[in-house]
Amino acid sequence: MEPQSSPGLPPEPDVHLPRTCVYSERQRRSCPKCGARLVQRYASYLVATRNRGVAADNFVLGSDFGWFCPGCPTVVVESPRMRALLSQGMPAWDVAEEFALLGLVDFDAIPADRRHAELGTDDNPVPLVRFRVDRPPPRHQRKKKGGKTRRR
Ligand SMILES: [Zn+2]
Repeated sequence: MEPQSSPGLPPEPDVHLPRTCVYSERQRRSCPKCGARLVQRYASYLVATRNRGVAADNFVLGSDFGWFCPGCPTVVVESPRMRALLSQGMPAWDVAEEFALLGLVDFDAIPADRRHAELGTDDNPVPLVRFRVDRPPPRHQRKKKGGKTRRR
């Protein structure tokens, strides 16, 4: 089904780059910003959770639900897979309904002598590569729901 099996593999996306995080309800093959072919990569994310508007636990979650763009600083996260991961298997965590990915954790940035130490303390903060936030559109510019192209 893939017509062009390019001779050279696409360049490896740089996971240490500050990226814009786009949530998608379905798996996407191409970048919503530049159209480049996305590359699925395992990465570690810092997840912030809220419980009724109050900040709850932050934790590091490693998964391959992110699709990275080799052409621009964008990562597309498969929301259904992220939700599934967050809702199962962590009964001890205070994982609330509301959550946000703050960014990628750059383990390479941890000094070698601290790698054994607990992460997230004052001495050893989580080396976070924060996601960029897209500016919301101006208020008067209301978008129609869905934004899908109608088919006839
Ligand atoms: Zn792109």
